[in-house]
Amino acid sequence: PSEIQKSQIKGKQIPGIQNIIAIASGKGGVGKSTVTTNIAVTLAKMGFKVGVLDADIYGPSIPTMLDTFGSKPLSVEVGGKNLMKPIENYGVKMLSIGYFSGANQAVVWRGPMASKALNQMIRDAHWGELDFLLIDLPPGTGDIHLSIVQEVPVTGAVIVSTPQHIALADVRKGIAMFTMESINIPVLGLIENMAYFTPEELPENKYYIFGNQGAQYLAEDLGIPVLGEIPIIQSIRESGDVGRPAALQEGSKIEEIYTKTTQNMI
Ligand code: ADP
Repeated sequence: PSEIQKSQIKGKQIPGIQNIIAIASGKGGVGKSTVTTNIAVTLAKMGFKVGVLDADIYGPSIPTMLDTFGSKPLSVEVGGKNLMKPIENYGVKMLSIGYFSGANQAVVWRGPMASKALNQMIRDAHWGELDFLLIDLPPGTGDIHLSIVQEVPVTGAVIVSTPQHIALADVRKGIAMFTMESINIPVLGLIENMAYFTPEELPENKYYIFGNQGAQYLAEDLGIPVLGEIPIIQSIRESGDVGRPAALQEGSKIEEIYTKTTQNMI
């Protein structure tokens, strides 16, 4: 960014938060929230102070995936200001629009309202000291993304995609948004989710259900690294559904894969 832009962004710095990482995807359903929650608990296990902001306001899944569904954030008075207190589980602090809407209630908001709510969850919340705040963005590129990348001092972006050609095509658009001259957020890399499947009875056989090598080629082409390849594993899905991220399974292959991916990211 130009010097002026840099100073504007600096002015927006959020005290106490060291790194803000936006987790994005071209398409929905590629596993962005699953990856976000697993990276969050992995960072916490590594000893970092971690927060997650669920900015996927049209399909907030962080509360379910981190077993805090139905929680209601309290307000705390800090320095004469009423702030939202993030919910905490597995050593991860989190806020989501999901805490403020009913279970079956649709969130029907215009872009500016949604952006305002998200801004409040970032700035009018008592996050305290954080090494990392992960922002789980909605899929695609839109108003909400633009307002976040313009308003929030994002340190870097991570893109999650399946290896499928059509999903990767949308990744290019997502990356183009972050690297736009006026925005200029470094893309830390691509995480390939649902990279392959290995049946239990044939553990040496990898089946590339959504295609092979596509993410590697795209990453090479864009000059960004592939941070990790996460296979399709039934327990990753099940753990998300019950709210206990699979990366918490100590000594497991899944824990190892998420640890490596997280180390590559930071
Ligand atoms: P997104 O946030 O991109 O919309 P989700 O994280 O909600 O995607 O994932 C979509 C579905 O796929 C969920 O049911 C999730 O449990 C499942 N899923 C995600 N990653 C994996 C994986 N590596 N293996 C198995 N299931 C997965």
